Amino acid sequence: MPTRNITIIGSLNTDLITRTSRVPAAGETLITSSYDTGCGGKGANQAVACARLSREKGSEVDEAGCTINMIGAVGDDMFGRDLINGLVSNGIGVDGVRVKDGEKSGVAVIIVEEESGENRILMSPNANYALRPSDFKSLPDPLPDLIILQLEIPLITVLHILKLAREKNVEVLLNPAPAVKLPREAYLAVNHLIVNETEASIITSTTGQKHSWALWGEHIQRLIDLGVRHVLVTLGAEGVIYLDTGIQRVLQAPGEKVTVIDSTGAGDTFVGAYAGMLAKSGRDSRDFTCMMELVDFANRAAAKTVQKGGVQSAIPWRNEVSLENT
Ligand code: ATP
Repeated sequence: MPTRNITIIGSLNTDLITRTSRVPAAGETLITSSYDTGCGGKGANQAVACARLSREKGSEVDEAGCTINMIGAVGDDMFGRDLINGLVSNGIGVDGVRVKDGEKSGVAVIIVEEESGENRILMSPNANYALRPSDFKSLPDPLPDLIILQLEIPLITVLHILKLAREKNVEVLLNPAPAVKLPREAYLAVNHLIVNETEASIITSTTGQKHSWALWGEHIQRLIDLGVRHVLVTLGAEGVIYLDTGIQRVLQAPGEKVTVIDSTGAGDTFVGAYAGMLAKSGRDSRDFTCMMELVDFANRAAAKTVQKGGVQSAIPWRNEVSLENT
């Protein structure tokens, strides 16, 4: 099987994570039950998930038949150096990570509420927002087989990369988080769209509607209308809906029944698992059965993440996810 090259273009952040039994009310100070720092950012998280879920713990990158490269920006500071080292330790190529003079590295302040496992996040993009279209005169050479994008870098940069990818016919997976409505033509470059419920509501302009299974028919039609072949809507504990718009078939994979410790990063694990398996296994993305197996694997991988605290540290390796059907 040919080596496949996945390139993730996106954010790198240092996560400052506090855990508390409940979130404080306005004006209230609570003592946390724990504090941690970790490497994060949707781009970096998805790169780590891709790397870990496309190979077994301890195996070399080359043995996996799949290389993972990160393109992004950090500040010239201690956080930035740690973020780059974190990627390297997961076997991810970092030649495309720029160190931006005079910028601070991105930071995310995360509050995890222990009672519910829910999280609240305040993000300072810093160097991530210094990644401009001028940083991408062209796509990397050799061209990646798959580019993964999120929206934690400037939208103008994402749109520029989508245009380049379309010109070069490079496959693109877009996880439009945090969600904004993109111009319609942006979706013409996207082959795989992975959104959570909130993101699905925003991009289909159904914000504010209470979702129920009965309403999914309408949402799905709007998602089909975007023109993306593979659409996945992640539903947290409810699992995921997968839609192949080419043959207009829908699959609902129920969520795994697990005990939630911390749901942060579940979505990123899902994206990385899906992309990593798509590339590594050489699955035929026109075959609905292949895609069902892949979605099922990503669903089980993401369910592993919520059973552990932390973000990147909670992302499992391939051999830690049961491999039936993959
Ligand atoms: P986050 O922003 O926390 O990373 P998200 O909102 O982007 O997550 P979700 O839809 O919450 O994404 O979760 C992504 C996937 O993770 C789900 O489709 C499911 O596979 C898995 N997952 C999330 N929460 C649970 C849970 N409580 N139980 C089992 N699986 C879960």
